[in-house]
Amino acid sequence: MDKAFTSAKTHKIKVKKPLYIPHKEKITCPYCGNHEDFYEIIENATFYIHYLQTEEGALEPVEEEVEILGPLKFFCGSCNADLSFLKK
Ligand SMILES: [Zn+2]
Repeated sequence: MDKAFTSAKTHKIKVKKPLYIPHKEKITCPYCGNHEDFYEIIENATFYIHYLQTEEGALEPVEEEVEILGPLKFFCGSCNADLSFLKK
């Protein structure tokens, strides 16, 4: 009984993985307090997409590259304030 209990216990070991909490500061909109809804606008981005045409004449993208030349603007999704300064 004692032995069974021990072995049962051995098999019930739960590996507790440390909960991963990214040590990143949460972004909160200083104007309206929103911290969930954001959007980003990328200006002057060059997309390079490499296609291969199949027998059927369909274009299959095989490689994609984005070159961002312009500034990246980050906005609050709630009050639309420019929060670029909050995002590093
Ligand atoms: Zn806001």
